[in-house]
Amino acid sequence: MDTQLRIALQKSGRLSEQSHELLQECGIKYRIGKRTLMTKATNFPLEILLLRSADIPQYVEDGTVDIGILGENVVIGKACDADIVKRLGFGKCRLSIAIPKNEDYQDVSYFEGKTIATSYRSILERFLENKVNSVDIKDISGSVEIAPGIGLADGIFDIVSTGGTLRSNGLKEVEVVMQSEAVMIANKQLDEQQQSLLEELLFRIDTVFNGRKKTYVMLNAHKNLKEKIINMLPGVTAPTVMHLNKEDWLAIHAVMNEDDFWNVVSDLRRVGAEGILAMPIDRMVV
Ligand code: ATP
Ligand code: MG
Repeated sequence: MDTQLRIALQKSGRLSEQSHELLQECGIKYRIGKRTLMTKATNFPLEILLLRSADIPQYVEDGTVDIGILGENVVIGKACDADIVKRLGFGKCRLSIAIPKNEDYQDVSYFEGKTIATSYRSILERFLENKVNSVDIKDISGSVEIAPGIGLADGIFDIVSTGGTLRSNGLKEVEVVMQSEAVMIANKQLDEQQQSLLEELLFRIDTVFNGRKKTYVMLNAHKNLKEKIINMLPGVTAPTVMHLNKEDWLAIHAVMNEDDFWNVVSDLRRVGAEGILAMPIDRMVV
């Protein structure tokens, strides 16, 4: 049988939609039904398994699946012995300690003799080690934010993305313990064929990410402006310059950094460029 690469994605939850989107942007086609737990791509040797996040580290570590997409916090929390092969830039959040907003707080010694409620015990323990001698950690699997309000704990340790949930529960963030985003992890003992399939997949992901950082700009200008404009638009190798069907006028096309777009546009307008268009780039091979 031909080698297949097996990937585990979160079955349903915050990361699943963007995980599927990423594979699709990489040109990988497959169908998922409501009850699908496993499917095969039709145009790439990839098997897709849909699992609970917390189970993915173990599956990747023992080689049941070859690679997985999950929150970095889960990888760290489970002390997963797999390689992080790509940071994916979505599912960004932080893991923080919070306490009731009217409490005075100087530093972590605040938690001496206190209790903290969390679903992420191991990360919290590692953070508090050698900082606080005696702290009671209470394991709760959800709705952690209400723990201080109902007298269950003095503080909480939880995932924060905007801070809105903390605020609406009268809490303030006092320690940011780690930053997290979705990552791709891989088993440490992939064979040569699996490794080369993984490299193909990573190449496609880079190609998608490079495209997102760039934009394709087109404009028209009088030929006297050519040098000035070309200095503003370096392009990949060099900009494309074409003649317009109007005497002495040129069309200039170039790839540029998305982040620089608004600055460059105002410079282009100032020197007299016309008909400026910008288009997204879906893929960019570098
Ligand atoms: P599962 O439902 O698969 O068993 P889960 O309940 O931990 O796992 P989600 O709540 O969907 O799954 O979160 C998945 C990941 O999304 C988290 O591990 C974290 O890395 C990331 N994430 C980003 N923002 C948040 C947030 N505001 N709350 C929780 N997780 C977040
Ligand atoms: Mg969940």
